[in-house]
Amino acid sequence: MAKVYYNGDVNEQVLEGKTVAIVGYGSQGHAHAQNLRESGVDVIIGLRPGKSWDKATEDGFSVYSVREASAKADIIMILSPDEHQPAIYKESIEPELTAGKALVFAHGFNIHFNQIVPPEHVDVFLAAPKGPGHLVRRTYTEGAGVPALIAVYQDATGQAKDIALAYAKQIGAARAGVLETTFKEETETDLFGEQAVLCGGTSALVKAGFETLVEAGYQPEIAYFECLHELKLIVDLMYEGGLEYMRYSISDTAQWGDFQAGPRIVTDETKAAMKEILSDIQKGKFAKGWILENKLNRPEYNAINEAEKNHPLEVVGRELREMMPFVKASKSKGVVANAK
Ligand code: NDP
Ligand code: MG
Ligand code: MG
Repeated sequence: MAKVYYNGDVNEQVLEGKTVAIVGYGSQGHAHAQNLRESGVDVIIGLRPGKSWDKATEDGFSVYSVREASAKADIIMILSPDEHQPAIYKESIEPELTAGKALVFAHGFNIHFNQIVPPEHVDVFLAAPKGPGHLVRRTYTEGAGVPALIAVYQDATGQAKDIALAYAKQIGAARAGVLETTFKEETETDLFGEQAVLCGGTSALVKAGFETLVEAGYQPEIAYFECLHELKLIVDLMYEGGLEYMRYSISDTAQWGDFQAGPRIVTDETKAAMKEILSDIQKGKFAKGWILENKLNRPEYNAINEAEKNHPLEVVGRELREMMPFVKASKSKGVVANAK
């Protein structure tokens, strides 16, 4: 079994006297900043002028340009979108990276795929909550936490791992458990999980199920409830007690159907496709495509995004959810589950 660190295993004193700059105040940024502050850590925020700047100021933080915040801080956590990080780093963080500072990430993409290459004289580590930012914040206020991964890429001070653990503890993650990994493992498993299972796999499964029922003449509203709405109820059971508890809770008919149909849906061919997806991630092919797509202002991303919004599943879903205000998603990013 992997070693899991909990509050009692971690010495948070390594953060004493250090200033943490949080770059970005979005889904993860606001959660890290507020949790650290309430844990007694000295936190400042680095941003460009705009909405997030106003929000962080309203929340009582000292907000600076990214360059100024990087100059003032000992530990710089980058929580802006992954695709903007290389430019922000080059322009505003790198010039302030004096010896002994720490550069921190919540996802390994830019380090692992060499989009950011830090100087040797700084610590570089990962403190990556395995959950959306708004849950990182909410669970902290409830006395709980979201589990996190830490990884050390560069240890210039000899203290990088202790600082990473302390950071994870002070955002509340060591209440749930902190695991050590590498940038490679975090990046590749994170990309694979969201592509094959959590986001790509699940969206495609839901759409195909919905289309099958509607094409056979069943009412779209019923197809929506059956293939999308109920998924949450099933996943909640899995989350609480694994497949066993989910199967305990459903009817024996549903369980027999599960055993019979599952392997016909996710076949050897599906598994072969998963291995291909993993291989594209490992070889950097996925990263290359995404980096290029961003350089070209996302023509394919935008086209697919538009078409997906108009899928009949989405149209009927919007209408049905209007009548269920209790399931309405918050407009703020991160409450709508972001599976990172
Ligand atoms: P968001 O998109 O929610 O946050 C973006 C923030 O970055 C905003 O405050 C935005 O400010 C700021 N920003 C954007 N561009 C710039 C810029 N040029 N200069 C300064 N600030 C800028 O990001 P996430 O929280 O989703 O992701 C942050 C990191 O956390 C990523 O590495 C991601 O992979 C990782 N992660 C995310 C998870 C999640 O739940 N979302 C889960 C685990 C890891 P403005 O208002 O000015 O645009
Ligand atoms: Mg049913
Ligand atoms: Mg991710």
